[in-house]
Amino acid sequence: MYRTHTCGELRLGDQGKTVTLSGWIQRSRDLGGMTFIDLRDRYGITQLVFNMDTDAALCNEARKLGREFVISATGMVNERSNKNTKMPTGDIEIRVNKIQVLSVSQTPPFTIEDESDGGDELRMKYRYLDLRRGPLKNNLLLRHRMAFETRNYLNSQQFIEVETPVLIKSTPEGARDFVVPSRIYPGQFYALPQSPQTFKQLLMVAGYDRYMQIVKCFRDEDLRADRQPEFTQIDCEMSYVHQEDVLNVFEGMIRHLFKAVKGIEFNEPFPRMTYSEAMEKYGSDKPDLRFGMQINDLTGTLQGKGFSVFDTAEYIGGIVAAGCAEYTLRQLDDLTDFVKKPQIGAKGLIYIRFGIDGSIKSSVDKFYSTEELLRTAGVTDAGKGDLILILAGEKASTLKALNSLRLEMGNRLGLSRKDSFKPLWVVDFPLFEWNEAEKRYYAMHHPFTSPKTEDAQYLESDPARVRANAYDCVINGVELGGGSIRIHDEQLQKRMFRALGFTETEAEHQFGFLLGAFRYGAPPHGGIAFGLDRLVSMFAGEDSIRDVIAFPKNNAARDVMADCPSDISDAQLKELSIRIQK
Ligand code: ASP
Repeated sequence: MYRTHTCGELRLGDQGKTVTLSGWIQRSRDLGGMTFIDLRDRYGITQLVFNMDTDAALCNEARKLGREFVISATGMVNERSNKNTKMPTGDIEIRVNKIQVLSVSQTPPFTIEDESDGGDELRMKYRYLDLRRGPLKNNLLLRHRMAFETRNYLNSQQFIEVETPVLIKSTPEGARDFVVPSRIYPGQFYALPQSPQTFKQLLMVAGYDRYMQIVKCFRDEDLRADRQPEFTQIDCEMSYVHQEDVLNVFEGMIRHLFKAVKGIEFNEPFPRMTYSEAMEKYGSDKPDLRFGMQINDLTGTLQGKGFSVFDTAEYIGGIVAAGCAEYTLRQLDDLTDFVKKPQIGAKGLIYIRFGIDGSIKSSVDKFYSTEELLRTAGVTDAGKGDLILILAGEKASTLKALNSLRLEMGNRLGLSRKDSFKPLWVVDFPLFEWNEAEKRYYAMHHPFTSPKTEDAQYLESDPARVRANAYDCVINGVELGGGSIRIHDEQLQKRMFRALGFTETEAEHQFGFLLGAFRYGAPPHGGIAFGLDRLVSMFAGEDSIRDVIAFPKNNAARDVMADCPSDISDAQLKELSIRIQK
């Protein structure tokens, strides 16, 4: 071994011991007759000291060592005269009597300290250096801990981890597949799994009634902030369960993680909210419950007074920004600009202020009497000192814009605290989602999700009204997991494929293996998958999942470290019977 101890280990009690440490030079300082080096490894930092008076040759040698050199140093543990209370090893230092350079380093392209001077792209390019920094290291350690505690909990609940293949048949699940050309079968392709969905269902048919896997999933989706083409799921499936059973087991898992990793306990059961309630009250299927500010339907209250924007709108909705009646015109203009951004899409913003002094003032005073404006206070519970912000238009898009406005106000008012966690289950999702461009229905979750028994009769006649046995686990406005009770009946699965526009032949061609399995005794089953990356980034208080992934792609889906995707050689292409169209 190149070391007797790690750089995070030694304390005052070790005084007098002769030790050898190995690690990277974080920093070195020459002060008068002394040279100090901070030696870093995964476990921490320990100060090394060299003294000109006692060993000038060694001290001179130490002065030549640069940042990020890998060295091994032997010496005696000594109490520091100048203690550093911020470091666990801050009471001691090593009086070095021997050093060995294990590896030299070029000057690193950015400082490898908790606060680095390197920009995002540069640090991505030298990810192995960035990973030496404290914040990323702590995130990876946290990730390990969470994966470990996940397995620990699920193991205690009789789940077994089963690996499923990475080269699979292309089966549409919602997103676009990444495909892998086959050399042996020219012109044929494997796909990378969007999730192990069909395999975990087949494992239920096979009798492994509690399955889990921490598994990579691949989706070739359009670039969006904080998406990765490959990401990790905690993927699970159970047999002989109803929705309630799945929710209970996985609420247990989330509780276990919060308790074991963060020391946080939730006293109340996670609230349940139906999809339609979430959409009406929050304009989102993943409401952030860290603060109230629910959306109020003002359509009935404000229509019919001659203000054409409102009179012609399908829907009028408002939120109450408590204590914001004194907002300046500038602040209101700023909010108007916000809602008019193309990604929010509102045409304008109407406000009503309820002054502390009882005055009522709005941007539509021309059309509404004080009594009429006061009526909105009744509907919304706004009081003196509050501000109502109102949007109007087509219902779905207005609710969506109100959601964005609500989240923005939550941020501005400091209500979305990172150390507060508000979990909930969103249930009763619609089974289908209408795609206007393609004029067809898509499965909102995936094609294997079962309809509610009482709604199954409308599969053919009125697909839009069919609700699914599908659920999402949401915390602080982030969808952390989602799942469903599955179809386990061949005939129902066939009806589902038909409703999704598959012909019998197409369904057989793509999903024949699953339909076939259902002919041999399929137990009722259901499951869920959690996004591990998102879960860890929430626990870490990070805004981006990139910060909790060792080697992520950048926002343009590139690996800038290895420079990939990249060309392959003509010989490789030929072997795969592929010609590139220029
Ligand atoms: N396979 C689903 C997904 O990736 C999760 C599930 O239904 O269990 O979203």
